[in-house]
Amino acid sequence: MSTQTLAGQILRPGDDGYDQARTVWNAAVDRHPSLIVRCETTRDVVAAVRMAREAGLRIGVRCGGHSVAGKSVCEGGLMIDLSGMKGVRVNPGQRTARAEAGLKLGEFDRETQAFGLATTLGTVSATGISGLTLGAGFGHLMAKYGLALDNVTSVDVVTADGCLLTANASENEDLFWGVRGSSGNLGIITSLQYRLHEVGPVLGGGIFYPANKTSEVLHFFREFSEGIPDELVIQAAVLNLPEVGPAVAIAACYSGSLVEGEKILKPLRKFGSPIADVIKEISYVEMQSMFDPFFPPGRYTYVKSNFVRTLSDDAIEVLAEYGLRRPSPHSFAPALEHWHGAASRVPVTDTAFPHREYPYNFMVWSNWASPSESEKNIAWTRECWEAMKPFLASGSYVNYVSDEGDTFARAAYGPNYDRLVALKNKYDPTNFFRLNHNVKPTQAAAVAS
Ligand SMILES: Cc1cc2nc3c(=O)[nH]c(=O)nc-3n(C[C@H](O)[C@H](O)[C@H](O)COP(=O)(O)OP(=O)(O)OC[C@H]3O[C@@H](n4cnc5c(N)ncnc54)[C@H](O)[C@@H]3O)c2cc1C
Repeated sequence: MSTQTLAGQILRPGDDGYDQARTVWNAAVDRHPSLIVRCETTRDVVAAVRMAREAGLRIGVRCGGHSVAGKSVCEGGLMIDLSGMKGVRVNPGQRTARAEAGLKLGEFDRETQAFGLATTLGTVSATGISGLTLGAGFGHLMAKYGLALDNVTSVDVVTADGCLLTANASENEDLFWGVRGSSGNLGIITSLQYRLHEVGPVLGGGIFYPANKTSEVLHFFREFSEGIPDELVIQAAVLNLPEVGPAVAIAACYSGSLVEGEKILKPLRKFGSPIADVIKEISYVEMQSMFDPFFPPGRYTYVKSNFVRTLSDDAIEVLAEYGLRRPSPHSFAPALEHWHGAASRVPVTDTAFPHREYPYNFMVWSNWASPSESEKNIAWTRECWEAMKPFLASGSYVNYVSDEGDTFARAAYGPNYDRLVALKNKYDPTNFFRLNHNVKPTQAAAVAS
């Protein structure tokens, strides 16, 4: 491939910008692609796919670079980097936004909020919209408006044979179903169209308690979560507060009438004796970057996560015990997200993402500063997850896990797995797109076994 045929740049080891382009959020991922194509246009993406096919190169597809499993960077091979593709066009009249794949959450939110609009994305502003949406997209608006992928109305996809297809409810409907939840298995998405909603200031922030109160706080969290309306999304985590030390937090975002929100949040704000209550009226853009200081790039990360089958008293005791024994002050662990409302009302087979029925998602999200601390942090993460296993469902949210494998993929895609295999057979029979939580097409599965 010559540089003249591309609008973007080709980088090789040793070139200026190569190391920056291959570096992703998780410092534990240190891979060296043979080539990086920094795409600027859809034509560049098509050219990169065709070139990789002709040369028989394995590929990685990078957008926001936030995959904790490092799924966007390949060792050797060709990294197709869309992170420079940042066009976005908001249509306030129709309440839609067409966004190129390289946008980060904060960049997208700033554009849509200029018109008082937003859609569900994640909770850390530097995360890429693409990887997040293709996996599912849990965020502060998920109970009112569904997951990020529930708000996607159309996508442009470059397929394994280097063709550009549009997929939506009336064109390539099977592909449209599959891309929403299959995390890059079916092609490279170059742009996504989202449905937007009116979103004004929110009541958001967190309430923090001493870490030795984790059991009481999680009992309250469970009871409080059972009756909350769609406007409210809450999460709980053990973390370290600067100048305070270990704490347990309940984060909240209420996205309805602020007067009503004050009433709804009253039981939370009256519970126990918090170290701090920082829930207040803030802009949605501020809410979307509130967690950023806890997740700077360049830390080492290992995550295990599953949906919770039953959040029993015994499960809470396990969480409280491990919360007091975290080896790293940077970890956000153990943690629970409350999944409910609109996201839970979508039928399991309406999109490829199947996990609609569990009210809690459990995470051991371990972050640490130096590779010398890797062994103890990975061991603790696994130990905590093993202790929680009796209370967990088999399925995981693909966007939150470091480990993988066939058994994992089957559980992660659940009842939609076989339909995804059929789509792989149709759109990617040679498993060209395999650096992801992979669904193997029949031909590749036969070769592997
Ligand atoms: C600090 C942090 C906070 C997070 N917070 C949330 C959260 O609040 N809610 C939530 O749901 N998730 C969250 N996540 C998880 C996040 O959704 C996933 O890590 C997601 O994959 C990141 O997308 P990305 O584009 O940044 O990643 P990348 O690493 O660039 O890509 C991730 C995967 O998606 C594939 N992919 C990316 N773009 C495309 C594309 N255009 N076409 C085809 N395949 C593509 C890649 O090949 C790779 O397999 C968080 C992750 C981190 C590290």
